[in-house]
Amino acid sequence: MKKIDAHAHLGYIGGWANVKMDVDELISLMDTYEIETTMICVLDNEVAYKAMQKYTGRIEGCVYVNPLEPDCLDLIDKYVKLGFKAIKLQPLRHAYCADSEIVDPILDKAEEYGIPVCIHSGHPPYSLPWQIGLLAERHPNCKVLMIHMGHGHGVYIDAALKMARRYPNIYLEMSGMPMHTKIKEAYDTVGHDRIMFGTDTPFHHPTVEMQKVLMCGVDEQGLEDIFYNNAKKFFDV
Ligand SMILES: [Zn+2]
Repeated sequence: MKKIDAHAHLGYIGGWANVKMDVDELISLMDTYEIETTMICVLDNEVAYKAMQKYTGRIEGCVYVNPLEPDCLDLIDKYVKLGFKAIKLQPLRHAYCADSEIVDPILDKAEEYGIPVCIHSGHPPYSLPWQIGLLAERHPNCKVLMIHMGHGHGVYIDAALKMARRYPNIYLEMSGMPMHTKIKEAYDTVGHDRIMFGTDTPFHHPTVEMQKVLMCGVDEQGLEDIFYNNAKKFFDV
C-alpha cells in the first residue's frame, strides 16, 4: 500500500539520540516500504533543499525555524519560495513554549502562504498538547499538525485527541506514539482526514510505525486515508 511519510529527518542527530540517516539511505527505505513521498525537516534547511533537488517529488521540505531567532521569518520566505511545503517547529529543542506569543508571527506567515505548521508535541514544559491547542485557537485559519500526537505519555496522547476534537485546524501524526488503539480512536472521533502516518526516521524504523497503523483496527479505507490520502491533501504534495 502506497504511503506518504509526514515526518522524518536527515543527517546526524547526536547527543542522547545518536542516530543518522542520509538521503540515499532514506530513499532506499522508502522504496522498500512503498513510501512515495517523505516530508523532511532538517535543522540546516540547505540539507533539506539539496535532498529535494536530488529526489524531486520523493522528498519534500518543511522549513525548520526557531521563533527566537531574528531571521526566522526571512527563512520562511526564502525556503517557501524554493518549494518547501510546510513549517517545522520544535519547542523542546529551542526552549520556548508552544503557546508563546513569539510563535504568532510564524503562524501568520504560514497562513499568508497557505501552508501548514508542524509542531513537535509531548514534552513538558514546552510542547504539550494543551499548549498547541492554545496556539491553534489563536490561528483558526492555519492548519497545525501535532507531530507525535502527545508522544510517549498516555495522558498527553489523550490530551492530543481532546485538543484535536476541540479545534478543527489541529491534525495529528502518530510517529513515536506507542498506542495503536489511539490511531483508530483519532480516526473515529477526531476525523477521517485528520490523522496521518509518519516515521520520524531515523528515530524510528518504518516497519515499527507501519505496524501500529496496520493493527489499529481501521478498515481498508481507513488504512488508505492514514497512510496516504490525508497527508497528500494536508501537504498538497
Ligand atoms: Zn522528529
